[in-house]
Amino acid sequence: MTASHDVVIVGGGGAGLRAAIAIAEHDPRSSIAIVSKVYPMRSHTVSAEGGAAAVAGPGDSLDEHAYDTVSGSDWLCDQDAVEAFVEEAPRELLRLEHWGCPWSRRPDGHIAVRAFGGMKNNRTWFAADKTGFHLLHTLFQTALSYQDIVRYDEWFATTLLVDDGKVCGIVAIELATGRVETILASAVIVCTGGCGRVYPFTTNANINTGDGMALAYRAGAPLKDMEFVQYHPTGLPFTGILITEAARAEGGWLLNKDGYRYLQDYDLGTPSPEPVMRSMELGPRDRLSQAFVHELDKGRTIGTPYGHVVHLDLRHLGADLIDTKLPFVRELCSKYQNIDPVRELIPVRPVVHYMMGGIHTDINGATPVEGLYSVGETACVSINGANRLGSNSLPELLVFGARAGRAAAEYASSVTARETSAVLARGRAEQDRLERDLTRRAEGSERIAHIRSEMQETLETSAGIYRDGDSLAKGADKVRELRDRFGRAGLDDHSRAFNTELVAVLELSCMLEVAECIIACALAREESRGAHQRTDFPARNDERFLAHSMIHRQPDGSSRVSYLPVTITRWPPGERVYGR
Ligand SMILES: Cc1cc2nc3c(=O)[nH]c(=O)nc-3n(C[C@H](O)[C@H](O)[C@H](O)COP(=O)(O)OP(=O)(O)OC[C@H]3O[C@@H](n4cnc5c(N)ncnc54)[C@H](O)[C@@H]3O)c2cc1C
Repeated sequence: MTASHDVVIVGGGGAGLRAAIAIAEHDPRSSIAIVSKVYPMRSHTVSAEGGAAAVAGPGDSLDEHAYDTVSGSDWLCDQDAVEAFVEEAPRELLRLEHWGCPWSRRPDGHIAVRAFGGMKNNRTWFAADKTGFHLLHTLFQTALSYQDIVRYDEWFATTLLVDDGKVCGIVAIELATGRVETILASAVIVCTGGCGRVYPFTTNANINTGDGMALAYRAGAPLKDMEFVQYHPTGLPFTGILITEAARAEGGWLLNKDGYRYLQDYDLGTPSPEPVMRSMELGPRDRLSQAFVHELDKGRTIGTPYGHVVHLDLRHLGADLIDTKLPFVRELCSKYQNIDPVRELIPVRPVVHYMMGGIHTDINGATPVEGLYSVGETACVSINGANRLGSNSLPELLVFGARAGRAAAEYASSVTARETSAVLARGRAEQDRLERDLTRRAEGSERIAHIRSEMQETLETSAGIYRDGDSLAKGADKVRELRDRFGRAGLDDHSRAFNTELVAVLELSCMLEVAECIIACALAREESRGAHQRTDFPARNDERFLAHSMIHRQPDGSSRVSYLPVTITRWPPGERVYGR
């Protein structure tokens, strides 16, 4: 069967929904499809807790937000993208308010803003500590009001169709029935979120498997800055569930096994001693995660069955503040750790949280493949460079979701019919490939779960918080071996309806591709910058590496890394200095 739309959006999270609304507003006659492997409200955006950054009024300025973002990125972001971002973010958050988002307020009725790591001024808007839930809900209910937005809920996109250098649709499986369908489109926007599941400990949902990155890469779009993987310093051990940075913004302390606020021993880029004691828990995430590794090396962490931890102490904040501003933290600790942070210490460890890299796009979300756009965590526009500042992502989805939506709508209205026999033949070929794979894998000898956990362990040991050439080279060999074994991975479930084992195979094939790109880019970048810390190249090297790494898939399936200069508009490279 074949369906056809002007624009197909793969992904129903914050980025996908914002793009869909922008298209519907821009051209009410457009036919828009949102294809999502889960019901949109289950997208990972729903779990964002802390908030969304945007200049909210006096005492702050667009320039300061831009500078914090640029220096936080260790100068690897594109400054034209950052300037557009900080300027449009306040408008987007206000628009969300008009669509119904219940931002938390001060007693005088003004928007409340909280401090966030690496931001010099308080500019993080929040809806208690359930910001993502409210933001996604607001976007979803707004999207529902447009009848031209058609949803394919619980459909899994397996490939992007490209003909003559132009994208012309996707192939997707309806998970409820196993039916494979070609969905034609003049433009496709990939909004599939992050890829944290490539690692063993992550705050990311099970669905964050880098599908869109792999799909775009296979379709000829380069991936950018894939070596930059953000660890969040405070995840719960075992589950990896995030304890939001808001807990530290409200005054939480990080303590080692001796009950000592160990961050005072580390250079977090804070300029003077007094603010250090006040703000050190709000140092940037990369530096806090690195400090944990040093504490571990010094034997000052606490061993648990799920790895070493330190403690997050909220007890001095009191029940009232915790219940008003951090109710979700209390709920998560009670449900998943069986502790009450009002009275007890929270065990935490660094866990993979966010992918700075992704599909290379310009400032309007366009990739080098004609008609193919991308936005959200799966894309790299790039405002995050080598290290993202917390609370910049939610506004990034909104600002660039709207831009990509408008650009894709304009492009779609400028091109003609996409239903050619070559395109339909490509769709049928992908359907046949999926059928053959299902049959062939009935005989497979390897277990998907084994390959997946070996891949995750490999990434943690070779491309974790600290890396070096030897461990990365070993990691690259191991991933190659795993890809080979993946070819022989078997499927026990041969049913069509909700075949979750088949979904696991499709996701693993994407994760292996992404894993290979992360390692290849990390190996090629012989310097330390932001979240990419090479023990064999400990210094930043602007002469060679003030540039985005771009990884391209070669026709034989191998990869090639090249470099693209970063765009610098107003802030020449300097030292990363924080402080409040
Ligand atoms: C626990 C947590 C807390 C966070 N807190 C904050 C915060 O406070 N502030 C902040 O700024 N950022 C925060 N972030 C980061 C931010 O929430 C994410 O980067 C952002 O929400 C990603 O949105 P997205 O729309 O790009 O992707 P997602 O919301 O992850 O949506 C991806 C969509 O793609 C679909 N999809 C994926 N693959 C396929 C496929 N093959 N076929 C079909 N559909 C597919 C999924 O179904 C889903 O709808 C947090 C992240 C996490 C994990």
